[in-house]
Amino acid sequence: MSIVRCPGCARRISSLAQACPHCGYSKTGAQVDPEVLMMRQLRNLRYRARMLTYMAMLFTMLGFLMWWFQNGGFNQLPGQLSSIFIAIGVVGYLIARAWLFRINTQIKKNR
Ligand SMILES: [Zn+2]
Repeated sequence: MSIVRCPGCARRISSLAQACPHCGYSKTGAQVDPEVLMMRQLRNLRYRARMLTYMAMLFTMLGFLMWWFQNGGFNQLPGQLSSIFIAIGVVGYLIARAWLFRINTQIKKNR
């Protein structure tokens, strides 16, 4: 068994795979059910959106930690760097949640 590049989407897949798990490209030429394929892609997207929410939460937390350690508490305004981290974290989180919501609605529609 080895890892090869999928001719359909250029992602890494197992040489033993009958069809690419990402795009459904099949070596044997057999067609993958487009609905199954779409669900797979949606699940893939959902995974990425979840990762993005975790990243955003991490950013927000780092921002607050920096704020705390720079001033020894929250009784002063946050520094520039911690403000940037918190802002990116909060905005990123909202975007990721909205994205996740859209993906989940699509998954429910396809069930
Ligand atoms: Zn592929």
